[in-house]
Amino acid sequence: TMLPVDPVKENYVRKVKNCIFSMAFPTPFKSGVRLIAVSKEVLEDILDLDLSVSETEDFIQLVSGEKILFGSIPLAHRYGGHQFGIWADQLGDGRAHLIGIYMNRQGEKWELQLKGSGKTPYSRYSDGRAVLRSSVREFLCSEAMHYLGIPTSRAASLVVSDDGVWRDQFYNGNIVQERGAVVLRVAKSWFRFGSLEILAHDGELDLLRTLLDFIIQEHFPSVDVKEPNRYVDFFSIVVSETAQLIALWMSVGFAHGVCNTDNFSLLSITIDYGPFGFMEAYNPDFVPNTSDDERRYKIGNQANIGMFNLNKLLQALNPLLDPRQKHLAAQILEGYPDLYYTRFRELFKAKLGLLGERKGDEELIAFLLHLMEKTEADFTMTFRQLSEITRDQLQELAVPQQFWALKMISKHELFPAWVSQYLLRLKSNRNDSDSERRERMTTVNPRYVLKNWMAESAVQKAERNDFSEVRLLQQVLQHPFQKHSAAEKAGYSSPTPSWAKDLRVSCSS
Ligand code: AMP
Ligand code: MG
Ligand code: MG
Repeated sequence: TMLPVDPVKENYVRKVKNCIFSMAFPTPFKSGVRLIAVSKEVLEDILDLDLSVSETEDFIQLVSGEKILFGSIPLAHRYGGHQFGIWADQLGDGRAHLIGIYMNRQGEKWELQLKGSGKTPYSRYSDGRAVLRSSVREFLCSEAMHYLGIPTSRAASLVVSDDGVWRDQFYNGNIVQERGAVVLRVAKSWFRFGSLEILAHDGELDLLRTLLDFIIQEHFPSVDVKEPNRYVDFFSIVVSETAQLIALWMSVGFAHGVCNTDNFSLLSITIDYGPFGFMEAYNPDFVPNTSDDERRYKIGNQANIGMFNLNKLLQALNPLLDPRQKHLAAQILEGYPDLYYTRFRELFKAKLGLLGERKGDEELIAFLLHLMEKTEADFTMTFRQLSEITRDQLQELAVPQQFWALKMISKHELFPAWVSQYLLRLKSNRNDSDSERRERMTTVNPRYVLKNWMAESAVQKAERNDFSEVRLLQQVLQHPFQKHSAAEKAGYSSPTPSWAKDLRVSCSS
């Protein structure tokens, strides 16, 4: 038998040694718990649950941390990490509880984690809670990323309570009390670069080996656990998958916001949605997080940060490698920029509807991005509208009014030059018609992404207990490539409203 640990006991928050998890029970909310949203697909296709289950009291108790599943030992994970380039030592799940691993009908194992469910041994000086606004953002964005085709953790449910949580939000000069919320998020694995880093840093090499072998066994089927080179093979996959992931982020203008090594998944899925942002006006210096003074995690730096983080991961593996393996792994890391740019090129070529490989493709992409930057054209909608406009309309440089992003970019004196290069290049597409090109492009260029102002608008309503826009966004972002009439009415494919022009988000969440 195990007794729940009392989070308020002294010495509870501490430096933890020689383990990978600590037993930690969620702290139930005191009042006003209610379910705001669920993801039908996550419940049905991942967790084998009938949607109607979400209407039961049992379900709400489970997903808010009030009730633990029979036989479950809830855990908080011990990890470390490099935050903003500096080793931060022990971090860990300070407000998240792993409540179980579920094996579904397809034989897939999914780890269920509550976020915002109270203090753990890793909470340090914080409250273990998450506020409504950041939970709405995580719920909506992780699902949106999935439907954009980007590897990510998923969100099953979102609950809010009446329990007060204090952050840095002010209204008329007074600090505003916010409400605690919990997201049930699921992923194949929540292990991060920092999961390995902490063990290497503390010299716990046996445990490091044990954890690595477990991760390889569970999640890297192409790597042979008995192979002496397995850690190099593992590293090679993480290098290539991280490159792929960041290229995908760039292809939709996603800036994660806090690319610390503790927020980088070993499975190369997007995790830990905080002050993320989708770039609007194209700008490689776009930083979504107001607390990132050095602009370290600006969108145009994410690929470099991937390299930095992989280098830190390699440092954690190094104590387990012999000199020859170290050399091999270092060479693999050197291949990262190439892997990244190859994928980036592929993705952007697809965004422009280019088939095959032609000299000058890269220049054509760079030229367009340059024009977008100069004219501050909207990244998402420029590509979308290029997917919707016909070749003839482009040829005549007759941009219809509804293509507002293209209108902006067409003001640049070099736009006609770009258009003629583009049209020439489209001619070299073999066996392609203009309608096929447009069809192809509309399946890779989303019409809707979760821009900050949309999330903000949904959050402001949610704060007043109106969850209609959370649900609308959830619905719309499930089909980001399809025109949706309520989304059009809400202005989701229109220019950003002026009230939200300089909206940014802070780290506090
Ligand atoms: P993040 O920047 O959100 O990735 O979090 C960095 C670290 O701070 C992680 O170890 C989190 O668990 C921890 N943390 C963030 N917010 C809280 C909170 N409200 N209570 C406890 N720990 C937190
Ligand atoms: Mg984190
Ligand atoms: Mg976090």
